[in-house]
Amino acid sequence: MCGIVGYIGTKKAVPVLINGLLSLEYRGYDSAGLAVLNNDNSLKIVKDMGRVKKLQDNSELESLTGSIGIAHTRWATRGMPSKINSHPHTDNNNTFTVVHNGIIENYDELKSFIEKKGYALHSETDTELIPNLIHYFYNKNTKKGVLFAVTEALKKLEGSYALEITSPLLKDEIIVVKKDSPVVIGVGKNENYIASDIPAILSYTKDFYFMEDYEIAEVKKDSITFYNYDLNIIEKEIKNIEWDAIASEKNGYDDYMLKEIYEQPTAIRETIGTSFNKEGNINLPLNSLDVNKYNKIYIVACGTAMHAGIATKYIFEKFTQIPCEVDMASEFRYRNPLINEKTLCIFISQSGETADTIAALKLAKKSGSTTLSIVNVIGSSITRISDFVLYTHAGPEIAVASTKAYTCQVTLLTILALFISEKLGLSNTADFEKLKNDLNQLPDKIKYILDNCDKVKNIANQIYQDKNMFFIGRINDYAVAMEGSLKVKEITYIHSEAYAAGELKHGPIALIEDGVSVIGIITNPSISSKTLSNLDEVVTRGANIILISNQDIDINSSNINEESIVKIPDCSSLISPVLSVIPLQLLAYHIAKCKKLDVDKPRNLAKSVTVE
Ligand code: GLU
Repeated sequence: MCGIVGYIGTKKAVPVLINGLLSLEYRGYDSAGLAVLNNDNSLKIVKDMGRVKKLQDNSELESLTGSIGIAHTRWATRGMPSKINSHPHTDNNNTFTVVHNGIIENYDELKSFIEKKGYALHSETDTELIPNLIHYFYNKNTKKGVLFAVTEALKKLEGSYALEITSPLLKDEIIVVKKDSPVVIGVGKNENYIASDIPAILSYTKDFYFMEDYEIAEVKKDSITFYNYDLNIIEKEIKNIEWDAIASEKNGYDDYMLKEIYEQPTAIRETIGTSFNKEGNINLPLNSLDVNKYNKIYIVACGTAMHAGIATKYIFEKFTQIPCEVDMASEFRYRNPLINEKTLCIFISQSGETADTIAALKLAKKSGSTTLSIVNVIGSSITRISDFVLYTHAGPEIAVASTKAYTCQVTLLTILALFISEKLGLSNTADFEKLKNDLNQLPDKIKYILDNCDKVKNIANQIYQDKNMFFIGRINDYAVAMEGSLKVKEITYIHSEAYAAGELKHGPIALIEDGVSVIGIITNPSISSKTLSNLDEVVTRGANIILISNQDIDINSSNINEESIVKIPDCSSLISPVLSVIPLQLLAYHIAKCKKLDVDKPRNLAKSVTVE
């Protein structure tokens, strides 16, 4: 999830590794570490929680003089940020040392496998499994060599990984592996570089190999050989990259927000992958949650996170049959909510540091309610206070306006609702199975929307000078209307309002006049004709309609222009917010670009709202 750097050549490795890590700092991380193979073939590791600067100032680095090294900034996904959980990780016999970006999803299964083989894990990370697995396979069949042992270990791993592997046995090479997590190899003269992201090594070379999934590289100072998992050699082409440093930090995207919008298929895949076991059953770390005791669920959060709660309230009610209320943390904390030990309070926060949410959480704890939090940043304040924690695996989110954290929150809340439903014995329904299946299709469907979004850009071009906008929908389409409207407010500074479609005629319709844009969201076939009628009502008053829908809309009867309809893939209307929000994120993004605004750092806003 965070950063990897590697070097093999003739220079001292440490300065290259530190420089590389420093240039990846913008990504956000909690720990940093490196390993260097010294000229006497001894492998030395220095690592700790905290900034790269702290690593750079560590006097132990002086004894690391070798020219082969691997380095890492960690963004914890399993195990709190701590020295012992920092990378690199080594096997029990100190033979193989590994840094890893990504998540090993079949952790439990592999932990019991490796422990049965006599290995002990010292950290809480999933990564530590990997050097031990390599050691196990190496020991079992030493004659076949290290590369063979690596492939045997890889065949056991499920999830995502970009790996650098070093060992005193590998005197003159680093092994690199990629699956669902980026790695590039930078080519130099009598030296080669490895990095998760181009900026880490852009000052040394402009020639890169881009590794694809299921590829292994044997990187020596004067050669690079690529293999597949059957150890057949693969031919790859060097690509020349003429990026400037800023563009490359964003991996070629103009802004972090756009990069994060495009990261959503991967983020959702990670979030789902870590919540289901191999057999396809929901597997959340909530064994001691006594689901039978609750007569009320409260979802409490702020801003976008609260919208994720509103979007999933209906799923909780439908599948758990427990009344579910959503509240703003800033209101909840001051209004003496009726909560007690029979209330399950769910808190949502990307950063885990949102001041109002922390205060609401403390209040809920005091009342005897069970507190369960959905957070993106491991080890953050909210995770330390809550009775139960579930992590979204969105990866670091840098743009102030949240995108991938929101879709991961909706996904994880949905999985939580299904988990509770199952525990209550309410899961034996076709709707339950359909929703479970639809969840698994979300990453591909998001990718489809992202690959076919030209229309949204054209729409943005036509409406970016608007002064007012309305977003309307019903039930969870209304939740998405709120989120779309918030994105527009946050980054385009256009005044926008979200309304439940049926409410328009009770007041706001007075504001509709020629050319006012009304964005409708329609994903629920049972009420689509209702929202369409509301759109017709505003069309007759001159509104400019934009429609996001997964249905075939009869344009003639609804008076809406084909060019203004953004069709998204079909899916259960319960989970449709994960899809219907994507064109709205892009709409806000492109409007802001047309207005030449700073998309990533909108005025007056902070990424993590740590004040009341
Ligand atoms: N899953 C690993 C950990 O939690 C790697 C995290 C990362 O990508 O930084 O340590």
